[in-house]
Amino acid sequence: MSHAEDIARGTAVASSANGTPHVGHLPPRLDELSPQNLYEKCMALARNLWWSWHPEVTNLFRDLDPVRWRQLDHNPIALLAEFTPERLEARAAELVLYSRINQAHRRMKEYLAAENTWSTVHAGVLGSKPVVYFSAEFGIHESVPIYSGGLGVLAGDHVKSASGLGIPLIAVGLFYTQGYFRQHLDVDGYQHEEYQPTKVDLLPIEPAVGTDGQPIMVRVDTRSGALHAKVWKLAVGRCSLYLLDSDVPENAPEDRPLTSRLYGGDTRTRIRQEIILGVGGVKAIRALGIVPGVYHLNEGHSAFATLEAVRGRMERDGYPYDDAIRRVARQTVFTTHTPVPAGHDRFDSGLMEEHLGPMRDALGISHDQLMGLGRVEPHNHDEPFCMTVLGLKLSRRANAVSALHGHVSRRMWSNLWPWKVEEEVPIGHITNGVHVPSWLSWQMLQLYDRIFPANWFRQMGGPDVWQRIHECDPGELWETHYALKNLLLQFVRRRLARQCRRRGECDEAVEQARSVLDPNILTIGFARRFATYKRADLVLSDLDRLHALIADPDRPIQIIYSGKAHPADEPGKGLIRKIANLRHDPRFAGRLVFIEDYDINVARHLVQGVDVWLNNPRRPLEASGTSGQKVVLNGGLNCSILDGWWAEAFDGRNGFAIGRGETHSNDEITDRRDCEALFETLTKEVIPLFYERDADGLPRAWIRMMMNSISSLAWRFSAHRMVMDYARVCYVPAAGGISCDMASR
Ligand SMILES: *Cc1c(COP(=O)(O)O)cnc(C)c1O
Repeated sequence: MSHAEDIARGTAVASSANGTPHVGHLPPRLDELSPQNLYEKCMALARNLWWSWHPEVTNLFRDLDPVRWRQLDHNPIALLAEFTPERLEARAAELVLYSRINQAHRRMKEYLAAENTWSTVHAGVLGSKPVVYFSAEFGIHESVPIYSGGLGVLAGDHVKSASGLGIPLIAVGLFYTQGYFRQHLDVDGYQHEEYQPTKVDLLPIEPAVGTDGQPIMVRVDTRSGALHAKVWKLAVGRCSLYLLDSDVPENAPEDRPLTSRLYGGDTRTRIRQEIILGVGGVKAIRALGIVPGVYHLNEGHSAFATLEAVRGRMERDGYPYDDAIRRVARQTVFTTHTPVPAGHDRFDSGLMEEHLGPMRDALGISHDQLMGLGRVEPHNHDEPFCMTVLGLKLSRRANAVSALHGHVSRRMWSNLWPWKVEEEVPIGHITNGVHVPSWLSWQMLQLYDRIFPANWFRQMGGPDVWQRIHECDPGELWETHYALKNLLLQFVRRRLARQCRRRGECDEAVEQARSVLDPNILTIGFARRFATYKRADLVLSDLDRLHALIADPDRPIQIIYSGKAHPADEPGKGLIRKIANLRHDPRFAGRLVFIEDYDINVARHLVQGVDVWLNNPRRPLEASGTSGQKVVLNGGLNCSILDGWWAEAFDGRNGFAIGRGETHSNDEITDRRDCEALFETLTKEVIPLFYERDADGLPRAWIRMMMNSISSLAWRFSAHRMVMDYARVCYVPAAGGISCDMASR
């Protein structure tokens, strides 16, 4: 046995109250460290997603078997399933993991038991009146595939920050047994979608149990028969996430896969998913014995929840319909994310009557009254039912997700309040933010830990701690970033080689993939959903000019792309194809790459290692965007159109703006001007600043900009700041507490 192991075991023995009998040649150990106990401790860690934002725990799992860890999508339950307690014990001994496991386990227990949180001081009223947060998707970790993109990641970050702040929040979503698709490109660059069934026993979920001690099963009546769903429970730190799942024998065979895929199927599937989420969700909460203080609807998908809440108030408390509506609205917070009218869910009158008929009977309202709740003009029979309109009408507090999006939303929905001038339309804004511990790299965490005050995590939603970044040694910040960039390049090469092998390409191509990109070259990242408004190909609209930048002998650039197109979005798939196929063009080969299967894992690598994050949506279609906020934390710089969050974030010293926030009369002109502005910013600002080095080889002005970016943006666009805003401006007043802010409507 090595000296280090001796010490590790010695510590354990020294603190042991009752040593276990001698096993083989090993000295007596803590009872707690029997193979079975060790295994159970690891499993307890794996069964609360708290582990996923604690790098010391992630590293622990990884160290058990780094290759399998990667192959298993960083799923600790799947990893532990490959170990027997004895093998785990042997591995832990070999790596001296005992104290790390014990410490992680203790930290988690302390975290879960903590009583002094931000919420106990600032949002005490929620203690007895919890927030129920509805979202159609939750992006918490790549190993739990129940998200497709930004909306889900935002919801996941919201829950994690609520947990961190101690806000009593219960999340409700759907359990997608096949998740979102895995993306593969064929030799032609065309996207193919693969759906894999999720292995339930390898997820940190368990059946939710109701007040009667039985697993919960909810039932939602429609005119064409009842829909049933069971309910799963996931632990996300101090918060619980409940997921409804239609795959139960009580359902007709054709209804069992209703919740199997995210945003799959036609409008009928969609409305059926949405009544399960909204109506079924409220019923599940009731079965759990939870009495909500606040309903928070993250986007319109879950807006039917309000109707079930109204029905509940009528039935349980005996309120008449109008009264119940007012009471539920007072408790409801609605967040809209969609800046284009076509992006909102709409259902026709027939689908509504089929699915909400029994509901309107219970509410005692006519079909026309029901439809009116989802129409801008209640009596316009040609107008379909819009979920966003329902959300807006049945909530006293509604918000957009950035300042600019607030303006757009007030204009878009001003017809709902025809007697108000646009500025007074009651839709405010709370700008999105990201969960710092989830997106911050281990290396930057080490650096912040050295220069920030102890316990800075508790204050990460405020500006003060982040100002200390200016005291950091510029060389150290640069070195850290450079190390992260190298890790990204390793990841990219590994992925590209794998993609080549998968497509059956020759050994030479695989070899070439292993040597693409150069860590000394300015590296630009572009990764997001391939919705056409995001214009992934904007920089490709002038290939000669792009080639000149990429092939510049002194100051070249390289670009890493990633992203999925919705399976039905052929133009989006066309964009992917166009980009992916540039690898066959010798002018771009090795300097412009596409990583398949964008997910939280790919996003994490990219945002932690790029020099510049490129974002060029057609303004004002990006409601907020959050990926650029993840980049900030890790020292990358944003280069973006002044849209979404960047319109309020950019101050001239903390990154780069493309254009001046103009909007033009049509898309063609907009695209041409924006393309011009993009090349202008790249050639006049980004590239010169990056390659301007001092005698030590440091890009001083660039590093100053990194510091400005971190100090001015990291806290403002953190999910902690965001959730504190929701608590103060929405949750506390909605739950009947007194708000100290004037910002609510
Ligand atoms: C952060 C994130 C997004 C959101 O990115 P946008 O900037 O809003 O486009 C989408 N997908 C994944 C996997 C992410 O991590």
